[in-house]
Formats: sequence, C-alpha cells, structure tokens
Amino acid sequence: MLYNIDMQVCGLIFDLVLIFFVIRHESVGLYSEKIFKQCLFVYSCCIILDIASIIAIKNDHVVSPFVVTAACKLYLISLMLSALYGFLYSYSDIKHLRDNLTFKKIVYTVALLGGIVIAILPISTFDNGGEVYSYGPSAVATYFFAPLFIVGAFVLTFIYGSQMNIHKRRAIRAWMSLEIIAALIQFMLPELLLVGFGSSLGLFILYAELENPERYLDKVTGCFSYDTFNMYLTQEFSELKRFSSIIICNSADWKRSEEEENSILVEMTEYLHSFGAKLFRLQGNDFVLVYDNQGEHEMNEIESAVNLDVMRLRFKQAWNGDILLNTKFLYIPDGHIATTFDEYMDIYSRYKDTFTNAEDMKTLDDQAGQSIREYRQIVLEIKDALSSDRVEVFYQPIYSISTEKFVSAEALARIRGKDGKLVMPGKFIPVAEETGLIEQIGERVFEKTCKCITEDKLKEKGIDYVEVNLSVSQCENPHLSAKYDDIMKKLGVSPSEVNLEITESSTLNQRSILLENMNKLMNLGCNFSLDDFGTGESNLNYIMDMPVKIVKFDRGMVQEYFTNEKARVVITATVNMIKELGLQTVAEGIETSEQFEEIRELGIDYIQGFYFSKPLEKNEFIRFINEKNS
Ligand code: C2E
Ligand code: MG
Ligand code: MG
Repeated sequence: MLYNIDMQVCGLIFDLVLIFFVIRHESVGLYSEKIFKQCLFVYSCCIILDIASIIAIKNDHVVSPFVVTAACKLYLISLMLSALYGFLYSYSDIKHLRDNLTFKKIVYTVALLGGIVIAILPISTFDNGGEVYSYGPSAVATYFFAPLFIVGAFVLTFIYGSQMNIHKRRAIRAWMSLEIIAALIQFMLPELLLVGFGSSLGLFILYAELENPERYLDKVTGCFSYDTFNMYLTQEFSELKRFSSIIICNSADWKRSEEEENSILVEMTEYLHSFGAKLFRLQGNDFVLVYDNQGEHEMNEIESAVNLDVMRLRFKQAWNGDILLNTKFLYIPDGHIATTFDEYMDIYSRYKDTFTNAEDMKTLDDQAGQSIREYRQIVLEIKDALSSDRVEVFYQPIYSISTEKFVSAEALARIRGKDGKLVMPGKFIPVAEETGLIEQIGERVFEKTCKCITEDKLKEKGIDYVEVNLSVSQCENPHLSAKYDDIMKKLGVSPSEVNLEITESSTLNQRSILLENMNKLMNLGCNFSLDDFGTGESNLNYIMDMPVKIVKFDRGMVQEYFTNEKARVVITATVNMIKELGLQTVAEGIETSEQFEEIRELGIDYIQGFYFSKPLEKNEFIRFINEKNS
C-alpha cells in the first residue's frame, strides 16, 4: 500500500532531531525558550496526526468513518494550533503583550472558535490510490483560522519590531513566510502535502537563529553566560519570582596563564554544577548560582544556605592540584532585595570588594537593596542637578585674627533639590567621588566661584581669595591645571584670588600628577591649602612633602583640643611646628566665643566656624561681608 507521506516523514525527522538537540541541554527557563519547546511539541503532534489521518483515509474500508473523520479533524485543529504557537512565540519577548489579559482572551477565543468550527463543519476525503488528502468546509475553515495567526505574527514583527532583536524579527518573518508559501501551495494543489514540512523547516530556522541552547552558554566553562543571566533575571523580576542566590567572587586577577585559568574555571564549573541550581558566569572569574527550582521560596533559602556551607569548605581547598584561591561569597537569600537586573548587579559590584581578610562571606538583605536604591537615586539627582544647573555654591566666611576682618571664604557645594530643599555635601560628595561625577561638580563649583569673585568684586570687599575644594580624582586628572587655567582666563580671575584645598588621601594613586598639577597652578599664581588636617588621613610628613601655604585643622581635631588634655599638648606643639615651617593655619568648626578665645591664644591665623557664620548662599554672603568688613 502506497502512502503519500514522504514530506511528512521528512518533517517529522527534522522535528525529532531538533527535539534531541533541545533536550540535550539544561534549559535556562526563559519564556521564549518554553514557548519554543511547546511549538516543537505541537508541530510534531501535527505531523503525526497528518500521517495518522492519511493512514486512516487509506484504510477507510477497515476503520470506521468516525475514526477517519476524527483523525482528519484533529489534524486540522493541530494545524491551526501550530499557527497559534507561532503567533505566541512571536511576542514572547514583549512583556506588556504577554501580560495583557484582554489581548490574551481575544487570541484564545479566536483559537477556541476556530477549533469548534473545524470540529463541527463536514469534511471529505480524497483517495485516488496514489494521492490522499482531506478537503471540504472543515479544511476551508482551517485555511481561514490558521493564516489569521500566521499573518498576525508577521504583523507583530512590524508593529513591535523595535522591541525584538533583529535576529528574532528576521527569523519569525522567514518562518511565517515559509508557512504561508507551503499553505498556499497546499491550498492550490491539495495533493502536495507541504504544510508539515514547511513548518518544520521554519522551526529549524528559528532554532539556528535564536533557540540554539548553545547561545545561552559561556564559551569557556559551558555554564550559562552573563547575557543569559541578564535575560533570566530580567524575567524573574518581571514575573516577581522569588529566588535565592550565591555569588562566588573569585578575585578577577589570578595571575595565571589563560590556559591554567580556564582549567580552574572548568573544574569550578563542574563542582558548582553539582548543586543542581542554575549556574551563570559573571564578568571576570565570578559565578552566580540561582535557586528558583522549588515552588516555595523557603525551600530555595534552605537549600542555598546548606549548599553555601558545603561550598565554603571546598573553596578553602586547592583547585587544579595546588592553586589556592581567596574566594568570597555574597549570599542573597531573597533576590528581591533588588528590583531589576541593573540593581542586582549594582549590589554585587558594590559589595564584592568590601570583604575583610578574615571574612569569606556576607549575607545581603533588604538593607543592601535599600542603600543601593538610595545610592542610585543620588547618582540620578547629581546628574540631573548638573544638567539643569542646580549645583549651587555656598560661601563660609573665614576670619583673620590679625586683621580682625573676613579675608577669605570657603566655597562649598550644595545641590538644590527640585523641591527647593538643599542636599548637603555629606550626602552627595561620597557618591560623586565614587562615580567620578565629582570632577564635574568640582569644575562647576570652581566656575561659579570665579564668576562670584569677578562679578561681585570680592577683592574690593576685602576677600583676598576664596578656598575651593579639590577632590582626589580631580588632582589625578592630568588636564586639571589647563582646565582651571582656562576657566580663570575666561572669567578674568587672577589666580592669586583662589586657594585650592587638597586632602591627604589613601586613595591617591598618582601623586606625580597631583604635584605636576600643583606646580603648574602655582606657577600661574594659585596657592594651596591642606584640608582636613587631623582626620587621621593627614600627617606631618605630608605637610613637608606638599607645597601648601595653609593648613586647615579639621573640626574633629579642634574639638579634641577643647576636650582632651593630651590632644591639647600635641596640637599646641603641632601648631608651633607648622608656624615654624612658615605655613599659616585655619581652625575649622569654631562655634562659641569661648572656643574662639582659646583658639586665638593658641596662635591660629584664621577661623572658620558657625561662631561667625554658617556657609551662606551667595547674596547673603555678599550682604554679610558688606556689613562686617565695612
Ligand atoms: P570641608 O572642606 O572640610 O568643609 C568644611 C565643612 O565644615 C563644611 O561642611 C562646613 O559647613 C562645616 N563647618 C564649618 N564650620 C563649622 C562649625 O562651626 N560647625 C560645624 N558643625 N560644621 C562646620 P559642608 O559644607 O557640609 O561640606 C562638607 C564637606 O564636603 C567639605 O568639608 C568638603 O570635604 C566636601 N565638599 C563640599 N563642597 C565640595 C566641593 O565643591 N568639592 C569637593 N571635592 N568637596 C566638597
Ligand atoms: Mg574644605
Ligand atoms: Mg576642612
């Protein structure tokens, strides 16, 4: 007996090969991956039903007419379902469509209606001994409903094209075109049963372009890649799934050959894989294990906590024979301390370098998430303030004991919030320093200060110079001196009217650049002060090494002077030494007249403190010196 099922058999073999490749790999659990697997299943069923219906028609003398009709109709329904799955796949990455209930209802109602119509309408069969196929109203209905979905998927690639990656757009269009061409041919020449084969070919394109599981893997280790982690976490967050995770922080630089590093990574991957959680490689040599396989979050937490203990013991031992690594673990029992992938990665990058030598693990709870969100908020606030000119400069007058006048002031940055309230430096300066935004803030403050010096004629009002703070990263920027020179020239400020404040900092890496900057600016006529003296970071050696003219005693040190007898002795001696070096001194943080008197007796040159004035907004500052210096 002859069956015209060659095409279908070819298609089925195609599908089976695909199924083999797909199930061979561990799946990430992405939505599009799931839909693709369902597609494969439905398409294979469709081809099997196609073959079954042909066999039934051929054998209608032995099987009952009901079975023949049922086989044909089931085939037609599965054909429509295949088209439906193609449609579902096409918007699998477009979350708001996926979550749109009305849209879903419409799609499923059309599919249900199609199924019912196909099931109810009559069907005829054709068998001339060679070719065998079904036709009639039920088949026509299929040719109406299936293309709705196929064309729909096609249309979606145009409407939502910008939200799909180009490979996906291209693959879906190719796939749907194949389906349409195959269906058209089969519609005109029903004896050419091309649809099943066309669909399989389409799926193959999809597999090659998008759903090849290899594309989710890291090339070196074979675990899931960083990009996959991004897609996966983005989905977890959008679906509000709860998961636990362990981040394995290997220091990035092992100082080994690439081959050796790779073999350690592979050994580590094999070990980490044994825990059964999803393993991703992060940038560098770090990994993350994600536990989300259990339905109940408590189970994830228990499993991950137990595994972590085992892991910590193993990581104390050598890899690749004799290589000991100083691996640290960030444990996040509840992934929802972050709300997005970026936030999660921020938490990771912020905490991965905060381990002390003795620590090998840290548990991160909601507090960590909260502080990252605040941090990100401040970063946004700074960027926004810079772009909408809301960085303001306040001036704190500095009093000269010898002339009994206000001879200078310190320029201090403030951010004017959108609500009009001031954000203080304590809040944004550390964040600005960490993100590098401090360079822009520093420049903005310097520019505004220069403007104030010339426009408000500070010199005529008795202000000889204004102190402006420099951050460590500014000092390390080789372009600083040229930039500041330009600004002073542009605004017509004499360099002797600015005093730049530097601090001693352990984070200073490029001392030579700092000195070069200082020399260039001093040659122009600027002077330098050493800020924060006495905060622990500064010492007398530094004063001798740095060409500063003024030393500013930090408020903390000044307070010590008033309260601690031993400190008093040390500070008195220090002041004398500094004076002998020919430098001048400023005491910060003087708040009362008693403090002022005591400090005056100590022989300090200048006073900066709330006793005279808090930092003032520019106009208030001008009023203040007009009044006090006249
Ligand atoms: P700083 O440079 O040591 O500035 C002195 C700080 O001490 C100012 O705080 C000032 O308001 C405060 N202060 C002065 N006298 C008193 C007093 O009698 N009592 C008390 N309680 N405080 C007093 P502010 O303005 O909050 O600035 C804090 C720090 O932020 C500054 O310390 C400086 O390190 C940094 N900063 C401010 N503006 C800038 C800037 O434009 N660039 C850079 N790089 N850092 C800046
Ligand atoms: Mg300062
Ligand atoms: Mg200071």
